[in-house]
Amino acid sequence: MLHYHTIPVTPFQQNCSLVWCDQTMEGAVIDPGGELERIEAEAARRGIRLAAIWLTHAHIDHAGGAGELAERLALPIIGPHEGDQFWIDGLPQQSAMFGFPAAQAFTPTRWLHDGDTVEVGREQLRVRHCPGHTPGHVVFHAPQIKRAFVGDVLFAGSIGRTDFPQGNHQQLIDSITQRLWPMGDETVFIPGHGPESSFGAERRSNPFVGGT
Ligand SMILES: [Zn+2]
Ligand SMILES: [Zn+2]
Repeated sequence: MLHYHTIPVTPFQQNCSLVWCDQTMEGAVIDPGGELERIEAEAARRGIRLAAIWLTHAHIDHAGGAGELAERLALPIIGPHEGDQFWIDGLPQQSAMFGFPAAQAFTPTRWLHDGDTVEVGREQLRVRHCPGHTPGHVVFHAPQIKRAFVGDVLFAGSIGRTDFPQGNHQQLIDSITQRLWPMGDETVFIPGHGPESSFGAERRSNPFVGGT
């Protein structure tokens, strides 16, 4: 069975998630934006052996710690989609601009594409490409536990910003309605910031995408 535990990190309270397979205790960390010692301590406390870093997109609060963690633990960096290359290249400047510890750029071990799968232990998650907030944004869907890790695509009661370079409002709306909604109303999503919600609840009441 697949498990997860979310740890808000960085001054932006970004929801970094540990996901792991309880048969093998192999785990992946989604979006290690910073505070790596807290993430590693939580993994150790639960007996999780980290095997990979998965990225939804390359904004500093999500990807700022990826290069350092990958180097220290010899982990592959999987994702995001190559549309976010320019954000990865800009990580050192992003960290300086927002007063984060110096972040290093990196080359992902594997870029992700719509329809790909990623594995942790004996569990598989599905990848959907959801551009709009950033061009290379991906989400990780775990149908076996009806969960989706959606980064900054959708929030409880809100949607991702699209006023960044290569952000696109219509693309974001299409990503939400064509790629998230089909995962099912009962699917609970873990957003990049703030509390969990379900797609059904957002379809009913989200002021930006309700009724779609
Ligand atoms: Zn973002
Ligand atoms: Zn974010």
